[in-house]
Amino acid sequence: MTLPSTPPPELRPSITERERAQIIDVLGQIPDEPTLLAVRDGRGVHFQRLEFLGDSVLDVLLAVHQWCEPQCPHCREPGAAVDSTDRHLAEVAVQKGLGSWLEWAASPERLADLVETCVAACWLSGGWLQALAFSSRVVHPMEAETGRALEAGIPGLDAGRAARRVGSALLELGAAHGLIRVFPDADEGELSQRRAELHRASAVAAVMSGRDPSMHGDAETLLSHVEDQVAEALEVHGADAALELAQEFVPVDAR
Ligand SMILES: [Zn+2]
Repeated sequence: MTLPSTPPPELRPSITERERAQIIDVLGQIPDEPTLLAVRDGRGVHFQRLEFLGDSVLDVLLAVHQWCEPQCPHCREPGAAVDSTDRHLAEVAVQKGLGSWLEWAASPERLADLVETCVAACWLSGGWLQALAFSSRVVHPMEAETGRALEAGIPGLDAGRAARRVGSALLELGAAHGLIRVFPDADEGELSQRRAELHRASAVAAVMSGRDPSMHGDAETLLSHVEDQVAEALEVHGADAALELAQEFVPVDAR
């Protein structure tokens, strides 16, 4: 049977047991039914919302990996960012046979989106370790060290650029996650625009000055301070606590 290259106008309303099993096999744990259906959709607004969230979750995972595994043999060079471009994600998605449950033969771009959607589905279902397990299997091999840092922190990591990247990724995820919860119907375009507004240096700096009037400096300097604080929270307490702190700096306004 040859699959069409574009999604059919209407998806089959029910998911087959085989599709369900394929999705669960890839994700590693059973997500709730709406998440399962969104992963299968590949086109709908809920798929896109998961993709939006997963993009930020993956950035956090890879930033933490870089920070606590600087000698990773799979990274191109010590401290270099892991390739998370759509092209790379599409390549790995094809290699791993991702999307076997779709009702059409997805394009490489759509498969790259699917990687991010799966990361979000894992994160929502089973937290950091499940998202890490999926990403480590599909996107880039990561060791237990990264999992330990996410779960409980690893005191004594070096401050510096790698730490700041972690802080920045957590601020981005803080904004994304807050927006997903506060705007249940917004599409990816609106969410992305709002995330950019929340995460711009002047907005974060304004929150920082409000919390601590003794802090001085231009917006970029204050943003760097916040990124350092958020990274430190992860180093000491793990990613949940760091995300909670990050969300205080990117407060989502329901308007
Ligand atoms: Zn690596």
